[in-house]
Amino acid sequence: MPAVVLVTGGTGLVGKAIDYIIESEPEGSRFGKKPGEKWIFASSRDADLRDPQQTLQLFEKHQPTHVIHLAALVGGLFANRERKVCSDDLRVHIFSLTLFSPQMTFLRDNMLINDNVLHTARIKKTQKVISCLSTCVFPDKVEYPLTEEKVHLGPPHDSNYGYAYAKRMVDVQNRAYKEEFGCNFTSAIPTNVFGPHDNFDLKYAHVIPLSSTNVISRKNGTPFKVMGDGSPLRQFIYSRDLAKLFIWQLREYESVEPVIFSVDEKDEISIRQVANSIADALKYPGEAVFENEPKDNGQDRKPASNEKLMKLIGPDFKFTPFDVALKETVEWFLANLSNART
Ligand code: NDP
Repeated sequence: MPAVVLVTGGTGLVGKAIDYIIESEPEGSRFGKKPGEKWIFASSRDADLRDPQQTLQLFEKHQPTHVIHLAALVGGLFANRERKVCSDDLRVHIFSLTLFSPQMTFLRDNMLINDNVLHTARIKKTQKVISCLSTCVFPDKVEYPLTEEKVHLGPPHDSNYGYAYAKRMVDVQNRAYKEEFGCNFTSAIPTNVFGPHDNFDLKYAHVIPLSSTNVISRKNGTPFKVMGDGSPLRQFIYSRDLAKLFIWQLREYESVEPVIFSVDEKDEISIRQVANSIADALKYPGEAVFENEPKDNGQDRKPASNEKLMKLIGPDFKFTPFDVALKETVEWFLANLSNART
């Protein structure tokens, strides 16, 4: 029977990229649609996955054989630190207990979403679920490079522990579901993602869309400022490359063990370099201004190894060069200023 693939979070940065690749690659090719295959890209309007009933209704409506589970409350460094509460019920709960944690939103919303999706997939006998973690889940103090078996070796960085612990639990759940019920659940661990359809909102965006929005705002008389000192190093993955990796994992990978989805370690780049490349791509007449507050940097570096991925997917798989991917992203942003998430 042809697969019915449900992509939760299908309207976000990564979901839109999977949609793009599935539609644009030749039918029947490694990353293109297979004959008879059906893909459903769900948003929070189709079902609020924090709600078990809505989650069940979504599965009953589409009867997915496979799920790529991307839905999550996602934010950049500043959002992770600053977001105070989530749904109204939680706000009441937090205030009445005078418990106040900026991490609570990320912890609770993501735990609810993940628990509902995995539980529903189990009771509906979904053949396979791939969930999306993040390199944020890794311990703050760890020996680099990050590799798949280091996820649980110590506490995550305190700037995002709510999000990180919620995501880590998915790996625990996948193993327990396999052990107790024989479920075929697994996960991917992408590094920093960027591309068309990113969230370009100044307060909640990640560094690439954040910088792009910032450059655009210079037209309103504000300078192109970048928080932090520009020194942290990161690996960035283009959303359309990541999309291919998810499609590969769906079709060609059969293990509960997570796989890191990243460019090579030698392709780490500094935030300063990213900001200046964006300034170039947007023809900003000057350099980015760094606020030189190391407290805003986040972790200095956290190189991840893609050795396992490359061994499995094979040498034919090539990542899009950063400058090409950045150019495509910036072009998309400029062409979609009125409807991008800002
Ligand atoms: P986006 O913020 O762009 O999109 C989030 C998606 O999740 C949207 O489709 C959104 O729906 C949906 N969603 C959010 N809350 C709910 C909810 N309560 N119920 C149902 N759907 C919901 O995220 P990304 O595409 O950037 O991220 C996808 C995955 O990749 C996430 O799991 C994230 O943790 C992970 N990741 C992302 C990285 C990044 O740099 N962006 C890095 C590493 C991992 P709607 O459009 O209706 O709001």
